[in-house]
Amino acid sequence: MATSPFAQVRFIWQNGRFVPFDQAQVHLLSHVLHYGSGWFEGIRCYRTPDGPAIFRLHEHIERLISSCKIFRAEIPYSYHDLCQASLDIVRANAFDSCYIRPLVYRGLGTLGVNPLNSPIEVAIAAWPWGKYLGAEAEEQGVDVCVSSWRRPGPRVYPANAKAVGGYLNSQLIKMEAVMSGYAEGIALDELGNLSEGSGENLFLVYEGTLFTPPISASILPGVTRATVITLAEDLGIPVRKELLPRGLLYTCDEMFLTGTAAEVTPVRSVDRLPVGAGEPGPITRRLIAEFQALATGQKPDRHGWLTPVPTASLPFEPVGPPADPQAVLQ
Ligand code: PMP
Repeated sequence: MATSPFAQVRFIWQNGRFVPFDQAQVHLLSHVLHYGSGWFEGIRCYRTPDGPAIFRLHEHIERLISSCKIFRAEIPYSYHDLCQASLDIVRANAFDSCYIRPLVYRGLGTLGVNPLNSPIEVAIAAWPWGKYLGAEAEEQGVDVCVSSWRRPGPRVYPANAKAVGGYLNSQLIKMEAVMSGYAEGIALDELGNLSEGSGENLFLVYEGTLFTPPISASILPGVTRATVITLAEDLGIPVRKELLPRGLLYTCDEMFLTGTAAEVTPVRSVDRLPVGAGEPGPITRRLIAEFQALATGQKPDRHGWLTPVPTASLPFEPVGPPADPQAVLQ
């Protein structure tokens, strides 16, 4: 049996306390379990020459707060508390690189659909997580298909919220793709424009310009998408955010997916047709190299994207009573 990805997790931050892994629980009648009423983030912490550092922590926590706002969920912690707890959970588990998962959810209250009678709770977990789309993905590229499932349109669902319930749509896209032998599925929006993958934003290179669907195409406004746009501008690559037809998938020169888990992953074929030469192209490779160099601190952090995880003695004030602060943080 494969080792659990959580084997090295000692503590999870839950409602202001460091809870041992096997005691981090919710009640079966929590609202989130029945109606998907939760909002979350996926953040990466990279190993850098100066120790672990969280990549774009502030943007992720801001997006979490925005997702909650749309659904009228008032988080009982401040922006600062959430940033601090994200740093603390890395340190409490002594990870030098990991994936961080903050989750805001509606807990045990009442079980009518009306969510407003259930308390808002918060958990932040962290665990080691390698390449999301496979070990060779970055070198060789992945094979994708166009999904028969669409992204929900703006009349149905706010795609800019990273909400638990929204990921049922992502799961349909992902399962269809994987069961047909593809690494990922690309969904169109309600009108048939290109939207995004089940857990990644989409980029195409066409005649030297980088194209990506706009937020009006039912995408999650990805932090990695924003990162790649800035890096492309730094490198003098023209970028356009505009509605894109499906046909461009088959004629573009390069294609890649972006996401915190997937990072920058080249696509080598779509619907079994090769993308360009069927291998990662030059612009994709340049962007991967630049992204990796900045995220892992190999190049100076010119945009202020890294927040170091303090490893020395504790400039640390727990938000609530920690389970056992000495045991956790020594
Ligand atoms: N779209 C969807 C549906 C996602 O789940 C993700 C992953 N969070 C992304 C795009 C990429 O977002 P980010 O770069 O912020 O991780």
